[in-house]
Amino acid sequence: MSAVILCPLLCSGLPEVVIRASDSKIQEGGNLTFECHVTGSPTPTVTWALDGLASQYNIQGRIWDSMVELVLHLTKVSSSDNLHNLTCQAENQAGPGEEMVQLDIEFPVKIIFLRDAESQHHWCFPFAVDGNPEPSIRWLYNGSALTETRYTYTQLIPDTDDGSVKHGCLFLNKPTHLNNGYYTIIVENKLGRDEATATGKFMDNPFDPFDPEGIIPVSTNKSDGDVTENAETRVSVAVGMAVFACTFLLIMVLVINKCGQHSKFGIHRSSVLGTEDDLAVSLRFMNFGGSPPSSDEDSGLSSFVENPQYFCGIIKDKDMCVQHIKRQDIVLKWELGEGAFGKVYLAECANLSPDSDKMLVAIKTLKDANESTRQDFQREAELLTVLQHQHIVRFYGVCTDGEPLAMVFEYMRHGDLNRFLRAHGPDARILEEVKMPPLGQLTLPQMLHIAAQIASGMVYLASLHFVHRDLATRNCLVGEGLVVKIGDFGMSRDIYSTDYYRVGGRTMLPIRWMPPESIMYRKFTTESDIWSFGVVLWEIFTYGKQPWYQLSNSEAIECITQGRELERPRTCPKEVHLLMQGCWQREPQQRLVIKDIHSRLLALVKNPPVYLDILG
Ligand code: AMP
Repeated sequence: MSAVILCPLLCSGLPEVVIRASDSKIQEGGNLTFECHVTGSPTPTVTWALDGLASQYNIQGRIWDSMVELVLHLTKVSSSDNLHNLTCQAENQAGPGEEMVQLDIEFPVKIIFLRDAESQHHWCFPFAVDGNPEPSIRWLYNGSALTETRYTYTQLIPDTDDGSVKHGCLFLNKPTHLNNGYYTIIVENKLGRDEATATGKFMDNPFDPFDPEGIIPVSTNKSDGDVTENAETRVSVAVGMAVFACTFLLIMVLVINKCGQHSKFGIHRSSVLGTEDDLAVSLRFMNFGGSPPSSDEDSGLSSFVENPQYFCGIIKDKDMCVQHIKRQDIVLKWELGEGAFGKVYLAECANLSPDSDKMLVAIKTLKDANESTRQDFQREAELLTVLQHQHIVRFYGVCTDGEPLAMVFEYMRHGDLNRFLRAHGPDARILEEVKMPPLGQLTLPQMLHIAAQIASGMVYLASLHFVHRDLATRNCLVGEGLVVKIGDFGMSRDIYSTDYYRVGGRTMLPIRWMPPESIMYRKFTTESDIWSFGVVLWEIFTYGKQPWYQLSNSEAIECITQGRELERPRTCPKEVHLLMQGCWQREPQQRLVIKDIHSRLLALVKNPPVYLDILG
């Protein structure tokens, strides 16, 4: 009797769920059966949870005493159900119970998509493939097997939440025009094979727009007429380009051959700092061939153009002709960045110096050459030829046989100083764009060493009465062993365009580096360079912050012209702050002179001040 009363409590039990499958694996289109056996007391209710299942199915059920069997028949299973979870759920008064199986449906591999290369951190051909068993992936480049390396490799993206579809990329690290072409993905599993082709157009061949290594259509359905027209167009464009190149070459040859004769080029500054001829004025003061510096600042362009020593001349016993480098001696490696004139590449250059076979160089090319940019380009080449100093980036010469025109510089492996400072400052980790070797945060002696080297370059420029007018860390370059050189005399690259303030059409002013008299009257002098040098010091000691970063251009102009000073950086010793303040005297004549700044910095390098970061 007591047993009868106790039974509803003692005899109740949680549902126990067991799934038996007719087969664990099935090929797409086949049939599968899953039996869900459930025991429990009282008799549980049982269901199959099949949300989102694409395959056709039917369910049959049987009940004996406390046992339930619910049979699920899948017919013509769909590959889209691969990895789908089938859950058998049961419930009675004692509670719930469930069991799950995952569908394993084999199907031939297929490519969901393959897209043309796009520039991410590296270049990537994005693709997605689906197949079971997991497919093998290989690539062809222009029809031949592509060997994967640490620079060209396939990587799958984990956890894309896209069922059994696998997403990935064929990554290419710093591809050049030599990598342009057709990339074919081939995927295979035991049930099938698929392939697709995409295009990689990483850059134009900087040296030849009709280069055979450029992209040539794989198949064309153009008529012969189209092809002829195309060929004619190519020929006429090529002839046009050749005539243009020859004209330029002729001019160059005329100028270069006339060592000691008149330059044909009028000198005016590139668009950075206005169109007037302050540069001409400053160049006029250079001591070419011992010609005495003129004091007549306003006599203008013509007297400078008449200067017979300009294009080829003697400075400090050196012959100063622009050197010509043969295009065939240059092999491009990859892109380093973009400047005002065009792209900058790392390249290997043969026959540059008698003591080394090949050298790494940086090549600056001239994009969209029109007459005015060609003149700017050439002026920078001429200028760089005469500027030779251990803290001015070494200029090797120009390459003018063919398009585009290029200038060849020594390669400074750590790139521009502003990027370098940011990469070695406290925020390096959050600036994901910078990938530098782990040099760690710059120390005070290293910062002083950097500053002293720039000062040394500026002492040299001042000795030539050359006014830089755009001194900033973005225009300095860093080489091996923390060697720093002033490296840019034209407009800086697009990524620094926010450092410039556009006035009128083309003129871009680096107002944050400019003293009040340059902002208000466009007066650029050796003294205005000193002001900029003070700002460079500030950049160094803030690890590459933008001066007045918290202000808009017009607010910055207001602050500078009202006499407000940049704040002393936290890591800046008193001695260096005094130097900055000496550079930022409102009266140009009261500013420190670069020689003194240089020697004070050298003294500080020898005996770095002990600095207590009171805030930090
Ligand atoms: P620029 O035309 O000087 O503004 O340079 C554009 C980009 O090329 C910058 O990212 C520089 O870091 C890089 N670059 C320019 N000249 C050199 C060089 N001589 N060595 C290494 N990188 C350079």
